[in-house]
Amino acid sequence: MGSGKVGQGDSFGGYRTQLVELLRDKGIRDLAVLEAVAKVPRHAFVPESVRHRAYEDSPLPIGNGQTISQPLVQAMYLQALKLTGYEKVLEIGTGSGYQTALLGVLASMVFSVERHRGLADTAREALEEVDIRNVTILVGDGTLGWRPFAPYDAILVSAASPDAPAPLLEQLADGGRLVVPLGDRENQVLTLITREGDDYRRENLGGVRFVPLVGQHGFPK
Ligand code: SAH
Repeated sequence: MGSGKVGQGDSFGGYRTQLVELLRDKGIRDLAVLEAVAKVPRHAFVPESVRHRAYEDSPLPIGNGQTISQPLVQAMYLQALKLTGYEKVLEIGTGSGYQTALLGVLASMVFSVERHRGLADTAREALEEVDIRNVTILVGDGTLGWRPFAPYDAILVSAASPDAPAPLLEQLADGGRLVVPLGDRENQVLTLITREGDDYRRENLGGVRFVPLVGQHGFPK
């Protein structure tokens, strides 16, 4: 789990508490998730120019045409994964690294794949700054998963995909859970897929809008 230094002694603590209350009002009930949001300084993961908006419940630009997702949607992902602290997790689309940091607090080991090297480097620096050490960021096409460390107890895809990439379904552990926004480039349905042997059960978690997953098993460039 992430170490104790995370989120201590910064001047944004009050804003973070307000964000936690808002997420609770909007239906996030998983205490571990709310505690992780209370602990991880979101402002460390957004560019200087939008830092004053870090604790609003909205997506923000992070460069390279990408966005850090809305906190409510990130909390929905985490709640759906039902993490207990012992899981090995794969994340596709590191982006800012904020969701990666929350995963670091909620799970035992996190591997996160990002296709833009610049974003991966910035995310690595932010994770180091907040002293989260159980995450590894990899640069590449995340639609292929990351085979050397498979299987994963949980997989999150934080970019829109036409369908669940086959390599990710293969790399999901039996009993594992995968959350992915499925749809076209404009609108998607956040989908929870639970693996039971060779069966993959799908559940609809609601409508969302994400930037596209670009890669071999996602959208073309
Ligand atoms: N969870 C992130 C969301 C970032 S947006 C955050 O809250 O900051 C989605 C990210 O997915 C972008 O950074 C984009 O570059 C990345 N992405 C898109 N296609 C990808 C692929 N095939 N492999 C890895 N990352 C990808």
